[in-house]
Amino acid sequence: MVCPQCGEHLHRSHSRNFSESFIKKITSYKSYRCSECGWRGMVAPVNSSAKGGRWRSVLMWVVGLIIALMIGIYAVYDLQSSVIP
Ligand SMILES: [Zn+2]
Repeated sequence: MVCPQCGEHLHRSHSRNFSESFIKKITSYKSYRCSECGWRGMVAPVNSSAKGGRWRSVLMWVVGLIIALMIGIYAVYDLQSSVIP
């Protein structure tokens, strides 16, 4: 993995917050840090599709679907509660 800013070799970095660790869990993206220029960000490994990449994308779709369903159910309940006093 090379730095997008200076082209130096990147080092793995620990997740700093919840969103970073969540992204790391559901996608193949990982936190990287450049010791040369200080760049820090999330990069997906090149061979992500080779091992577990497909399952993670499937899992991502399922999680997205569940969230969409929950929002839908919530919207329906909210609509019902506003109709019936
Ligand atoms: Zn760099």
